[in-house]
Amino acid sequence: MATTNKTMNRNLTPAIRRVAIVGSGMAGLSAGKLLRAQGCDVTLFDKARGPGGRMASKRVTDGAVDIGAQYFTIRNPDFREFLGRFAVDDDNQPSVQEWSARLRYQRADKGWEPMRAAMRYVGVPRMSAITRALSRGLDVRCSTRVERLESTTDSRWRLVDTVGAELGVYDDVVITAPPVQTDTLLKNSGIELAGAAAVFAGLPLEACWALIVHFPKGARAEADGFSFNHTALQWAANNSSKPGRDGDGEWWVLHARADWSEKFRDADPEWIKTELLSAFAMAVDSLGLSDDVTETITHRWLYAKTGFAGEGPGHVWSNSERIGLCGDWLTAGRVEGAFTSAQGLVEAMLGLSSPGGMT
Ligand SMILES: Cc1cc2nc3c(=O)[nH]c(=O)nc-3n(C[C@H](O)[C@H](O)[C@H](O)COP(=O)(O)OP(=O)(O)OC[C@H]3O[C@@H](n4cnc5c(N)ncnc54)[C@H](O)[C@@H]3O)c2cc1C
Repeated sequence: MATTNKTMNRNLTPAIRRVAIVGSGMAGLSAGKLLRAQGCDVTLFDKARGPGGRMASKRVTDGAVDIGAQYFTIRNPDFREFLGRFAVDDDNQPSVQEWSARLRYQRADKGWEPMRAAMRYVGVPRMSAITRALSRGLDVRCSTRVERLESTTDSRWRLVDTVGAELGVYDDVVITAPPVQTDTLLKNSGIELAGAAAVFAGLPLEACWALIVHFPKGARAEADGFSFNHTALQWAANNSSKPGRDGDGEWWVLHARADWSEKFRDADPEWIKTELLSAFAMAVDSLGLSDDVTETITHRWLYAKTGFAGEGPGHVWSNSERIGLCGDWLTAGRVEGAFTSAQGLVEAMLGLSSPGGMT
């Protein structure tokens, strides 16, 4: 894998290319920053009201709580350099900090063990601060769902939204939507990328019910996060234990298991809330949880975690179509994977590496 330095310091783009990027999560914003650094004219579109995708934080009375990605790794040195350079706030302070959390996992016999020590990183003061910082200086058009791509007579791509409005004409298109949405967009456009169907078919798509809970007096749990061995509950973390979080009491985030979320995908959110709260209370009872709960917010992720168990193709670049795919789902389905996938795609677009696993 070539380095970020290499892609950033050598301007290999023969002429200013107009690039459209569908999606403004970590993959879309990373691709946007790296392509901008190469002198490309980049426009990002996102169907959501703001950038960030699954690195989302929900506003609560006294701050915000991370409802999607909980923490991430930084193993790729290029990712570290990228975040150091671009993930900074308006005062040039880093938007990323280490979360030195006390985490536990539950054994098959329901006993608890400490999770292995690792460097875990979060956005400060909320996860979405990172994607907000990355979006600075980029042309990000939110609340805009790209419905289809139409080829123009001069071999470029016209993007069209859900009401048929034109979103501009571009030389290259990068799609970073999760696999179902990418597949739909390609089908709507009558585009078949070689081998893509097989990759989409092989991917698990996991929904996830999430619950935010406020304990005004603190949950009095003996750790900052728990990975459960439970039919419904998979994860709970004390959001207030992350750096830079203010506010009274403790805000916790609970994530349900994928198969349970899938089974109860259309259930009443109130019922989901009751099930997850009682599972949490029972599971950590021995750890001293208080049941003193006030505010709650329930959220359903339809496409929460997806990706290859192993390496995955990384990215897809079709030089003939001038269309690329990247995103966490083309790697192991995590925040760092989303960056690495985007980095690989940008290098392929610039001709610095192979086109990826499917072209
Ligand atoms: C509940 C949960 C917990 C997680 N926990 C962790 C964790 O602890 N650690 C970790 O590393 N990762 C975790 N992840 C995964 C992590 O959030 C993702 O790997 C990463 O954020 C994916 O980034 P992305 O850019 O590839 O995709 P996304 O963030 O999904 O971005 C894709 C964007 O495309 C947009 N889009 C889709 N279709 C269209 C369209 N047609 N037009 C316009 N826009 C469109 C979407 O709105 C979205 O913003 C978690 C995810 C969830 C949901």
